[in-house]
Amino acid sequence: MDIFSKAFAQEQDASDKLAHFRGKFIQKEENLIYLDGNSLGMLPSASPAFINEVVEEEWGRGLIRSWNHGWYTRAQEAARKLAPLIGAQEDEVIITDSTSVNLFKLAYAALKLQEGRRGIVSDELNFPSDIYVLQGLVKMFGNQHTLRLAKTTDGIGVSLDELDYQLRNDTALLSLSHVVFKSAFMYDMKKVTQLAHEHGAMMLWDLSHAAGSVPLDLNACNADLAIGCTYKYLNGGPGATAFLYVRKDLQEKLESPIWGWFGQHQPFDFNLNYKPAEGIARFLAGTPPLLSLSAILPALDLLNEAGMDNLRQKSLTQTNYLIDLFRHYLQPQGFELGSPEQEHERGSHVSLRHPEAYRICKALISPEVGEKVIIPDFREPDNIRLGIAPLYNTFIEVFEAVQQLKYIVENKRYEDFRREKENVT
Ligand SMILES: *Cc1c(COP(=O)(O)O)cnc(C)c1O
Repeated sequence: MDIFSKAFAQEQDASDKLAHFRGKFIQKEENLIYLDGNSLGMLPSASPAFINEVVEEEWGRGLIRSWNHGWYTRAQEAARKLAPLIGAQEDEVIITDSTSVNLFKLAYAALKLQEGRRGIVSDELNFPSDIYVLQGLVKMFGNQHTLRLAKTTDGIGVSLDELDYQLRNDTALLSLSHVVFKSAFMYDMKKVTQLAHEHGAMMLWDLSHAAGSVPLDLNACNADLAIGCTYKYLNGGPGATAFLYVRKDLQEKLESPIWGWFGQHQPFDFNLNYKPAEGIARFLAGTPPLLSLSAILPALDLLNEAGMDNLRQKSLTQTNYLIDLFRHYLQPQGFELGSPEQEHERGSHVSLRHPEAYRICKALISPEVGEKVIIPDFREPDNIRLGIAPLYNTFIEVFEAVQQLKYIVENKRYEDFRREKENVT
């Protein structure tokens, strides 16, 4: 069958073993193709009822008693569901705070433990918030450290040789996004972690664009530290509480910079002297946002049910399919691939570059009457990110998005839109 035909996409959907998961998500608009699950995952159908129960029953009826009926250990309960998705033990993960705050806590702890070593290495493709946090730490430690950013030659990825070079002397910490937010370039976690260790550096992975999109095995890679979002491929909801991972043997050696009572040994003794909790709980700070924390539970159940290996298999089939369609339909229209060609170097989104990317995104989101609304996102300077969430995206959606991209450029439909950017792109 012609792989560029609509019938091919329909056939792929018909034989997709994960297709039924689509029905486990709320879809309010029939005419919407949502390709932004890498920025904010869709709402699982089970979540509203569950959140409502937390509000009406646990809060409304149970009131303060609910702290002893599930609230106090909810962060651990969510961690138990997350651990298998990232290849960690249950007592190595905790759900707390935001990704940026967790990065701050763990990077601080690593720099403290590695006192005397003065290098911090990241890369110039990393998410700006991650770089800001590291810059802030340099200042906080009295400008004794230097932050070095490994360079990219193609705007897509960074080579092992370049990392090796940047790690060259005295590096305390290597902090990288496992899957890069713009290009979806994915590092070889095992090799990079090993390289960091060879240089005496600790390895901190940001899994924001990786968790829920690619199988992860922090334990097998001997990773030291990790953090990540739960509102992207994990579908935990806007601003959902983030996670952090600390390898078991490091937990007692590391110290959180925030000595809050939830990270205290016995919070309800109200002792005036801080003694850190044993294990991962020492990285908690204060009372967790229970509503947002609870919303993560039904979402994680779906991923565990589908299985990360199955999801990865579907994701690869879909991203490879998207790239095939790009070559056939879009390359002739001036689009370029902003993601790695090789599937083992790629997460689950695909960036397409075009000089008119911003206005093309606007045209996708605000179509003519009768056309589907397509939501991708735009990342400076010229990336159209198409996030493929294998839990709910279909092949026909990929096909239709590509057809619409071609139509918009062929007919210069983007010229109807202004170049000024909105607050959130
Ligand atoms: C999304 C994302 C974040 C977001 O951090 P928040 O503190 O949740 O706003 C951080 N790092 C990376 C790599 C991300 O992709």
